[in-house]
Amino acid sequence: MSVNPRNSQQSSLMQEPEQQATESTQTKIPRLDQKKHWWRSTRAGYAFAFPIVALGIGLNLLRAYLLPHLYFPTAFLLIAILCISLGWGVGPGLLAILLSCAALIYFYLAPFLHLSFLDFDAGLFFHILPFAIESLAVVFIIRQLKKTRQRELEITRTARDQAEHLADVNEQLKEANQLKDFFLSIASHELKTPITTIRGEAQLALRRLNKLGASLPEATAFRGVLTRVDEQTIRLTNLVNDLLHLSSLRSQKLELDIQPCNLNEICTRAVEEQCLLSKRPINLMLPSPAIQLQADPARLGQVMTNLTNNALKYSPVESEVGVEVRREQDVAHIEVRDAGQGIPPEQMASIFQPFFRTEEARASTVSGTGLGLAICKEIIDQHHGRIWCESTVGQGSTFFVELPLIP
Ligand code: ADP
Repeated sequence: MSVNPRNSQQSSLMQEPEQQATESTQTKIPRLDQKKHWWRSTRAGYAFAFPIVALGIGLNLLRAYLLPHLYFPTAFLLIAILCISLGWGVGPGLLAILLSCAALIYFYLAPFLHLSFLDFDAGLFFHILPFAIESLAVVFIIRQLKKTRQRELEITRTARDQAEHLADVNEQLKEANQLKDFFLSIASHELKTPITTIRGEAQLALRRLNKLGASLPEATAFRGVLTRVDEQTIRLTNLVNDLLHLSSLRSQKLELDIQPCNLNEICTRAVEEQCLLSKRPINLMLPSPAIQLQADPARLGQVMTNLTNNALKYSPVESEVGVEVRREQDVAHIEVRDAGQGIPPEQMASIFQPFFRTEEARASTVSGTGLGLAICKEIIDQHHGRIWCESTVGQGSTFFVELPLIP
């Protein structure tokens, strides 16, 4: 039975390359701990209100002298109030309004109404009221603007702090990851020698036992034990090799040997090898003409071997396994299909994680380290390609690989 991934309902997962490196924002934001200059304090604002209002009056008197026909006495005072409110806030702004009202009464209204400055007249109050309302409105609007700006600054500052914090955490994670890879590569390296020695000794003992023949009464039992030791050391060797491989790939120690290569040939070699080893047929479909691309042929062969091997491992012996290669616009597209047990959707997100094996795989007799797909993903990522899987439980799985075709 072959699986058509486009027709069946499938759970899918696209493994995108990890996104790292959170950069802090470049916006210039005043820091909270920045020192405030003395002249920006509210107290200084009250003090500055006097000369600024005086300057407004002075300019107005100058205007009256130079341009007597242009009558608009409150303009300079409003500008003075605006500047004071902008610079120092509501308190100094209100003081500026008071000073401006007093100045207006003294210089304009009292002479105009033929009153002395100290004579209280209700009329004075009504004359000055529009200016007072106008000025209060200006102060109020500026207060609101400043509040909004303040809130904006706080939000930006919080965002910047969080971005900086995230960048720090990201850096720490990167360091921890590098340390883990370093530890893995050292541990795997150190494990290699004793494992090889154990295997060598077990094989030597097996050969000696075989020479002694059946003369020893417990020969069969010993042979069984030594064979199991040999098998387990092979498993350990594979695991250590996979670990070394993954850590070298991740730490970029293992450089790709990029060269022009023939994808048809790479896939044919891997599929033929798996057919021979498993003694099962594999349906291979290749495009004509063959796909040429810039890649590391050995690593791509490793990916194809692992995907085909998995398809064979996790599907019944009598079921069909298919590999299809085709050209799609500017990518080479590879599909490895099987009609096996499939992968449950909730476990799908983890299959490219190192050491992950589905519950079904762990419960079965199929051996594995859970490192093969992680290695495949690392190799495909380094080729700037994509690898993902679609699967339906009980119907089978299809692994997809896309590689950019560099002209
Ligand atoms: P392993 O050595 O266990 O095969 P892999 O990294 O190659 O490790 O695969 C990780 C896990 O993904 C496997 O243990 C298995 O549970 C699941 N898996 C991989 N390929 C298939 C497949 N074709 N069908 C079903 N499950 C699969």
